[in-house]
Amino acid sequence: MNAPFAPRVVVVGAGPAGLRATEVLAEAGLRPVLIDEAPRSGGQIYRRPPVGAERPATDLYGFEAGKAVALHDLLGRLGDRVDHRSATLVWAIEGRRLSLLGPEGPSVLDFDALVLATGAMDRVLPFPGWTLPGVFTLGAAQIALKAQGVAIGSKVALVGAGPLLPLVTRQYAKAGAEVALSLDATPFLPKLLHGPSMLASPSTLLKGLWYMAANAASGVPQRFGATGLRVEGDGRVEALVWRDGRGRDHRVACDAVGASFGLRSEIQLADLAGCRMEFDELTRQWRPIRTSEGRSTAPDVWLAGDGATIGGADVAELAGTRTALALLADRGIAVDTTRIARLDAALARQRRFRVAVEKAYPFPRALLDGLADDLMLCRCEGVTVGALRAAATTRGADEMNRLKAFTRIGMGRCQGRVCGQAAAEILAATLDRPIAEVGRLRGNPPVKPIPIGAFAGAFATEGERA
Ligand SMILES: Cc1cc2nc3c(=O)[nH]c(=O)nc-3n(C[C@H](O)[C@H](O)[C@H](O)COP(=O)(O)OP(=O)(O)OC[C@H]3O[C@@H](n4cnc5c(N)ncnc54)[C@H](O)[C@@H]3O)c2cc1C
Repeated sequence: MNAPFAPRVVVVGAGPAGLRATEVLAEAGLRPVLIDEAPRSGGQIYRRPPVGAERPATDLYGFEAGKAVALHDLLGRLGDRVDHRSATLVWAIEGRRLSLLGPEGPSVLDFDALVLATGAMDRVLPFPGWTLPGVFTLGAAQIALKAQGVAIGSKVALVGAGPLLPLVTRQYAKAGAEVALSLDATPFLPKLLHGPSMLASPSTLLKGLWYMAANAASGVPQRFGATGLRVEGDGRVEALVWRDGRGRDHRVACDAVGASFGLRSEIQLADLAGCRMEFDELTRQWRPIRTSEGRSTAPDVWLAGDGATIGGADVAELAGTRTALALLADRGIAVDTTRIARLDAALARQRRFRVAVEKAYPFPRALLDGLADDLMLCRCEGVTVGALRAAATTRGADEMNRLKAFTRIGMGRCQGRVCGQAAAEILAATLDRPIAEVGRLRGNPPVKPIPIGAFAGAFATEGERA
């Protein structure tokens, strides 16, 4: 008798969403392939130090230590039931074939079903001085602490527009770094107005309030509603300048700045997989269309976690589980409907919480007002704000991909992951049109930089190979 056909299910991303999806698939006996470019599982929030440099989970993850350890132990528990490929980048998708670059070099992998759990990265906006050595994203400042156990400077200023700011501030203060300022680019009032709706997830709300209180107790100045951001320094960071709600300028001496303005979903692989996108007015970003169970518009492509829509780590775990259960049901494998109903109820509660968070931390659009023409916007290709405006007003660049063709914005190493959203905002403002109308940069392989040397063999002639 022939063995029953087992579909090859590939999960991309070993963060909370991908790990929980993998768990469900493995327990159903599908032996999923789990791929992540990071050397160790955990994703962004539960990122681990290198092997041999471990530190206690409570030091690294605070309140979330229990969740982190549970997820870190998951692959060990599942053992051989998962084909885990770490340190492996998925850099392209064509049809049902993934292009990989791992420790053994390049390879391809075909799939019957694909779960994309690719997470998020910092949302970056340009401001004078943002390219000076010593300016990091807020997430990078946290990665330095979690992965390498170092601070980005000896006296740091942290700037944000989301709940990551009070958390990273707390982590820096707890690690003994001097935090000269924790500056929220969004005003305080929306937090008061939307605080009650955040009771949809009381424990998360309490944690946020606790971080702010602990930061205040440790003497870190916390300010809200900043505009006119500027980093000053001769060759590297020396101070952060900002304007308060009353129009007064402030200057804080520091030797490093961590600054980013919320998160953006990593949607490039979903784009290459053929998932249709929609513009989300609340977060002002494009995201792949998906059903509440995680189904995308592309056949057999599923989406979970922050890569689909920003929801945070708890939502990522729930969504990973939910998506994998839907995938199993789709393949005719029996699933526990009571468990699904519980997950759906929890996800609905979390959605209400997330809407309140997004309203409490509205996108700080005003930071992009009045930027000088000579400010660097796309640092990979050296394109200024003025060059963008000129392409829009004199060359008819009325859409992001036309803008890319005229200016090279988004053609460099980051493929627009860093500058793309800011470019769309500035283009829309220049044309005085709604941002959704200027579109988004289309995804192109490779989604992240890959060394050409890794493919040297592939390009060698027969004679050279011999
Ligand atoms: C820098 C940073 C720090 C954060 N810190 C916190 C925090 O401390 N607390 C908190 O509540 N939230 C934090 N967040 C938010 C966080 O993203 C989510 O809460 C949570 O980690 C989402 O889980 P996820 O599984 O959806 O994605 P992630 O945890 O981001 O996992 C996605 C995984 O996909 C992998 N991946 C992506 N693309 C590819 C590819 N092409 N090939 C191979 N692998 C790929 C990544 O390496 C990553 O491991 C942080 C976000 C960022 C960007």
